[in-house]
Amino acid sequence: MAHHDALTGLPNRARFDLALDNALEAALASGEKLAVVAIDLDRFKDINDSFGHAAGDQVLRGLADRINGTLKDGELVARLGGDEFAAVKPFTTMASLRDFLDRLEQAVNGRITFGDSMLLVGGSVGVAIFPEDGRDRSKLLNNADLALYRAKAEIDQRICYYEQGMDEAARERRAVAKDLWTALETGGFHLAYQVQKSVTTGETTGYEVLLRWNRPGHGAMSPADFIPIAEECGAISAIGAWVLSTACHEAASWPEPHKIAVNVSGLQLAQLELVDMVKHVLDQTGLAPERLELEVTETAIIADRKRALVVLNDIKALGVSIAIDDFGTGYSSLDTLRSFPFDKIKLDRSFMPEVEHDEQAKAIIRAILALGKSLSVPVLAEGVETPAQLDVLRAEGCTEAQGFLLGRPGSIDWSALKLSA
Ligand code: C2E
Ligand code: MG
Ligand code: MG
Repeated sequence: MAHHDALTGLPNRARFDLALDNALEAALASGEKLAVVAIDLDRFKDINDSFGHAAGDQVLRGLADRINGTLKDGELVARLGGDEFAAVKPFTTMASLRDFLDRLEQAVNGRITFGDSMLLVGGSVGVAIFPEDGRDRSKLLNNADLALYRAKAEIDQRICYYEQGMDEAARERRAVAKDLWTALETGGFHLAYQVQKSVTTGETTGYEVLLRWNRPGHGAMSPADFIPIAEECGAISAIGAWVLSTACHEAASWPEPHKIAVNVSGLQLAQLELVDMVKHVLDQTGLAPERLELEVTETAIIADRKRALVVLNDIKALGVSIAIDDFGTGYSSLDTLRSFPFDKIKLDRSFMPEVEHDEQAKAIIRAILALGKSLSVPVLAEGVETPAQLDVLRAEGCTEAQGFLLGRPGSIDWSALKLSA
């Protein structure tokens, strides 16, 4: 009992540590290599939340059985705790390691029955190899974890091998995280606004709110780089709250009642508190709900679909509109569109550079515009940089546009706007 996990019957952490130490000694003596593999289930929390703990237990037991069924001599898989597993595999050729990882991947990914439900499970895998990636247990486990962490972040890669530089990257991310918390406390963030215009009339239809940060000692850092770190370290909730409340405060005092579009992270979407926060900020600032739009990405919705849709519906009921951001870069676009009544589709800026010359890019844009039209959802094209791109959009019947051609993100110069009006 002391060496086995009661739920799954797999070896537990204590047993795993012993086995790994023994395997390391054996490998050292024989000159064989040894792979230390970290395994973590994706969306395990969702299964627990949506179907209950009995379902979670069933998944863990089912996976343990499947994994056990694929093991060959000398291979060991243990449950370290929660949805965390680890494996040891002595090997001499990469082919035999790959064979093991293939079997592991197949065992970890698939369906598990629970009552009348089929639960879809999947896992990510990180691999560190003795001797090159570390010579002792803690170093190897740590490096397998770093590789796992990369595998979890990559959408199209379930298995990652440890590479040098991963610890350097992890250290750097921790340093950024620390600076983000400091920025929150010391007022280190500010907001930029980028104009959105009607393609037909050229009128301003709203402004997107973009977060800006000058990282002390490093200069301006792009939100595309620091938002993922804020999500990882948990600062995103506080940062998101700051963005929403500051943007609403500022917009409420504008001389013109333009709309603002605020980006919302997937992690915020997974929290029911977001609804209360939006309500509270609107109450406090007096901003009319019709003037607020939230931008969400497909990835954010897919991560926790059920909860995201509940939260979005509640926010929409407040009178706030919802746009789907970076459309066309996700992987289940049509399904996402069908699942929620979005008020706007924002066509990702990656399509723009090609529309002038590439018939295929133009055809895709045409198809997305047709889709928007048939669903009665206006389409805004992002990243418009040239008059020729704007011409194409106009000819194809696009509703709105945003991009450097129409205005760079910055502060709004109201006096200049008055003059040109
Ligand atoms: P996004 O929501 O798609 O924002 C548009 C990005 O495109 C902005 O980058 C903007 O500066 C850039 N852009 C605008 N016009 C053009 C153009 O004509 N050409 C090119 N090449 N780029 C253009 P930025 O400000 O670096 O933001 C990057 C991403 O970071 C945003 O993408 C958004 O996903 C995220 N982000 C920004 N602010 C926030 C925030 O307050 N909260 C959250 N959760 N995410 C944010
Ligand atoms: Mg956006
Ligand atoms: Mg976008």
